[in-house]
Amino acid sequence: MKSLHLLLSVASLAVALRLDRRGKVVYDGYKIFRVTPGESVADFEAQLESLEAIDLTHNHGHVEEEHFDIAVPPENLSAFEGLNLTSEVLTDDLGADIALEGELAEYPGSELSAAALPSLSWFNAYHAYDDHLTFLKDIQSSFSSNSELITAGKSFEGRAIQGIHLWGSGGKDSKPAVYFNGNVHAREWISSKVVEYLTYQLVANYNNDTTVKSFLDKYDFYILPIVNPDGFLYTQTTNRLWRKNRQTRSGTSAIGTDVNRNWPYKWDGEGSSTSPGSETYRGVAAGDTPENTGIRTLGDQLANGNGIKLYIDWHSYGQYILTPYGYSCSAVVSNQAKQNSLAKNTASAIAKPYGTRFTTGPTCATLYATAGGSNDYVTDVNKAEYGWAIELRDTGRNGFTLPANQILPTGIEIWEGMKYLFANM
Ligand SMILES: [Zn+2]
Repeated sequence: MKSLHLLLSVASLAVALRLDRRGKVVYDGYKIFRVTPGESVADFEAQLESLEAIDLTHNHGHVEEEHFDIAVPPENLSAFEGLNLTSEVLTDDLGADIALEGELAEYPGSELSAAALPSLSWFNAYHAYDDHLTFLKDIQSSFSSNSELITAGKSFEGRAIQGIHLWGSGGKDSKPAVYFNGNVHAREWISSKVVEYLTYQLVANYNNDTTVKSFLDKYDFYILPIVNPDGFLYTQTTNRLWRKNRQTRSGTSAIGTDVNRNWPYKWDGEGSSTSPGSETYRGVAAGDTPENTGIRTLGDQLANGNGIKLYIDWHSYGQYILTPYGYSCSAVVSNQAKQNSLAKNTASAIAKPYGTRFTTGPTCATLYATAGGSNDYVTDVNKAEYGWAIELRDTGRNGFTLPANQILPTGIEIWEGMKYLFANM
């Protein structure tokens, strides 16, 4: 499995990307396939290198369902079809899907007064990075006595990693932490939108809903919607499918390290790559990305303060609630039974509004190995009670380019899940 992943990643290195006149990568004519190699994984390995396919995601959890989602450029479609692999088409034209996401919308800022909540219309469209920062400021000023803007270090290109800290009646820094990280993988745009929606609901309902008030009175929330700002900006200016940060390294022209394979715990194991061109490149040394240093330092501070009750690293896509561990498929956390039941019931709550089904279970056994991932570090080093990763909508039809009209429904269903979780964890 490992070598297959490396091959896919190496293949993605060789892609000759086409650019439009604004310098943006053109994905017109790319098809996305879900390939189920079955017994012929070895052949698949041997054949894929020449396809210049882009590695989107894969599921290693169950052998019979093991599959890989790959984007194949138009010039290699006939070669791919000639391989006669067991596959289904997820997307006929990735370029058309990107167009369906909609243009980035204007955000005027809170128009009423400093104390007014921003409009929910924020969740009808995707927005530019700077507007995300303005939105966060507006949320904060609408809840000024129970919140503050925070930063968690700086990105490789020098941008502050910005977030918000919310608290309740006990005052600032008085309770165990709920710590959320969004958009560590740059192309997973729905993750920052959902994290912002959860923030919005906490702020909007604190004073008029006793249940929501109880969440903030019990926990301090530290919420960072976009922890990979350089990568996120790059997806908006240049390459919609960029995943990693934008870190350069000596001795290679390849750019970017996977910040979620860079955590300094079980860093050099299965499920990360030593190849700088790989989508899961883990870095030269454990914890050597500025973004990891920033979010890890904040997490360490929270752990050494009142402790971390819940950490969630927000991702897309696949619809999974993933508990520890990622580094090993056999290691078991001490509170695994409680984690299992909480995850299952959270999934049931998520399904209530629209019937969206989430699969739950330990990361490695359910999805794939992830050495150097966040939830293992937060669980074993920070002693968080629950260190999770959640993969949001969808299961592959739109993948990373989820249409804008699914932002609000995704937020609504996840809020249902989080209300269950905050009340029962
Ligand atoms: Zn991700």
